[in-house]
Amino acid sequence: MSKRDYYEILGVDRSVSDKDLKKAYRRVAMKYHPDRNPDDQAAEEKFKEANEAYEVLSNDQKRAAYDQYGHAGVDQSAGGAGGGFNNFSDIFGDVFGDIFGGGGRGGRGGPARGSDLRYTLDLDLEDAVRGTTVKIKVPTLVACKTCDGTGAKKGSTPKTCTTCGGHGQVRMQQGFFSVQQTCPNCHGSGKVISDPCTDCHGHGRIEETKTLSVKVPSGVDTGDRIRLAGEGEAGADGGPAGDLYVQMNIRQHSIFEREGNNLYCEVPISFVDAALGGELEVPTLDGRVKLKVPEGTQTGKLFRLRGKGVSPVRGGATGDLMCRVLVETPVSLSAKQKELLREFKALVTDDKHSPKQSTWFEGMKNFFGDMKL
Ligand SMILES: [Zn+2]
Ligand SMILES: [Zn+2]
Repeated sequence: MSKRDYYEILGVDRSVSDKDLKKAYRRVAMKYHPDRNPDDQAAEEKFKEANEAYEVLSNDQKRAAYDQYGHAGVDQSAGGAGGGFNNFSDIFGDVFGDIFGGGGRGGRGGPARGSDLRYTLDLDLEDAVRGTTVKIKVPTLVACKTCDGTGAKKGSTPKTCTTCGGHGQVRMQQGFFSVQQTCPNCHGSGKVISDPCTDCHGHGRIEETKTLSVKVPSGVDTGDRIRLAGEGEAGADGGPAGDLYVQMNIRQHSIFEREGNNLYCEVPISFVDAALGGELEVPTLDGRVKLKVPEGTQTGKLFRLRGKGVSPVRGGATGDLMCRVLVETPVSLSAKQKELLREFKALVTDDKHSPKQSTWFEGMKNFFGDMKL
């Protein structure tokens, strides 16, 4: 099945601003929202399609990848990051929080879903590039095992709240107005516990530090996140658990700096090697490799080692390693060494040996000439 163009799905052109993109997404998603189109398969498909399009286009990195490579650039199934597009509660909550009541299904009755959690995972560059599995400890709320999350003592069950008749909401008459309020007796759950569980004190949830194993795919970068469905906080009153979002943060590396899929490093080189040319040993993530520098190499020159960068998590070409050569001025010279340099200097009479200097002096002459000094 060929996929439709994301811009076309949202009915916007390719230069659309973030604001207009959001507007367009709201319009399409509102139209096809399942709450408005119950049991309409076609509408649901359109709704999912719009969610997918918005998830990609609202993310600068993904949008750039999509603009460049099309669907192949953002194909989620290849990378394994996140859980695909089937569950869209994250973006949905962001955009519709104000319309549909905070990303919850709370309005439809039944116990509320637990909160989503965020966890920042600090990774070394090597692990981010190669992929790894990390154990993390997350303080969270889990369903109480003693009472199965009901909050009622073993052998007893929560009773339907008599104040609200189990709705969780009550109508209060205030003058001419009838106002809907959360039930003061059951605090909205619709149930009261007369005999609370002693382990969770009737809350149905207890604090626990969960140890989870997170599989980090190779190529992730700072800001990427992995969703662990159902690993967020347990819902109150036996409601479904929220999700856990593990946010990647790549630590600074002592040698390499990452920019997109490319790596950068600085390589000091003696002025003799720079002048005569030679072979340098440079570091890569897979060990040392040899790099030939030509004679007359200037400081700051970038050498590109193809394919020695990062393979992006969502597929696409592997980046390069860029080595910036820094020519070093020799220090702590002996008398003999200094003598040789003086000898060398005496031999350098032609300014063709200093390409930058000759043009620089030319510029300086012009500058002072213009000032008529
Ligand atoms: Zn309990
Ligand atoms: Zn009540």
